[in-house]
Amino acid sequence: ELFIAGSILTILITSYINNPEIMDYDHKEQINNIKALEQSWRELQLLLDDYHLSPTEQRKNLVLIKSEEVWVITNESVLNTQRIAEGNISYFKYFTAGFILNLLAIIVILFIFKKRIYDDLKVSAIHDPLTKAFNRRYFNEYMNNEILRGQRKNKVFCLIMLDIDHFKNVNDTYGHNKGDYVLATLAKIVGESIRRYDVLSRIGGEEFTILLPDTRINNAFDLAERVRISVQEYPFEGIPPLTISLGVVELKNDDDSASILERADQAMYKAKNSGRNRTEKG
Ligand code: GH3
Ligand code: MG
Ligand code: MG
Repeated sequence: ELFIAGSILTILITSYINNPEIMDYDHKEQINNIKALEQSWRELQLLLDDYHLSPTEQRKNLVLIKSEEVWVITNESVLNTQRIAEGNISYFKYFTAGFILNLLAIIVILFIFKKRIYDDLKVSAIHDPLTKAFNRRYFNEYMNNEILRGQRKNKVFCLIMLDIDHFKNVNDTYGHNKGDYVLATLAKIVGESIRRYDVLSRIGGEEFTILLPDTRINNAFDLAERVRISVQEYPFEGIPPLTISLGVVELKNDDDSASILERADQAMYKAKNSGRNRTEKG
């Protein structure tokens, strides 16, 4: 803000210093010079005509005096023109340099502000603030696009659904804050176990999805197992080790977002019912 205020002030000062009124004196004088020059020139013409009609010594002297006067005004005009030109150049140089600097400063400031605001808006619009994973809305949008893309290009993706085992116990025994810490840490562990283009989202209280573009079920299963083991081995602060259960499914031809989510959910519940800390394909 200070920076913006400074720039605006600088602009105002430069434009004040460069106020064209300062130039007016030279310009007005130049216009007067040219008028005077025109006048003397006409008078000289008349005197010359007179002299040609009757070339007396007196008329010759008048012509000489007048031509000297024309010379003096011309000389003054030339000098004044030079002065104006030089003034214009330095004025122009100064003004242009100042103007460009200000413009650059403003562009940079606007760019930084725009980016900051834009990033803030973007982050809050698509991310869950607690875990920094994508939110459910973004996940839905992303998956719908992937389904359309899959149908168009005949490509598949896989979806992993995961849920913390007995998470209620963490909240009940260690408090809600510890529960929040677990959620944020879990997202971090999972985020570090997946690939750059895999999309981790928090779609419910303690339910996450991982969407794996251009991936077949066997590779997705392996990745899910790696994630499961990373969580199982992670030393959460102040609580016993935690586990997760996962369901993995691959996109089918006739899938829509509801049907693939439903199958992933069923696979995850199969893992829960088979003893938890497991991955099941659906
Ligand atoms: P299961 O192994 O069957 O998944 O058991 P669970 O206890 O994890 O399952 P349940 O769905 O019964 O409990 C989920 C709990 O997650 C309930 C709720 O207190 C907790 N939870 C949901 N969202 C949040 C959150 O944002 N912060 C915290 N601390 N807890 C949350
Ligand atoms: Mg749970
Ligand atoms: Mg649950």
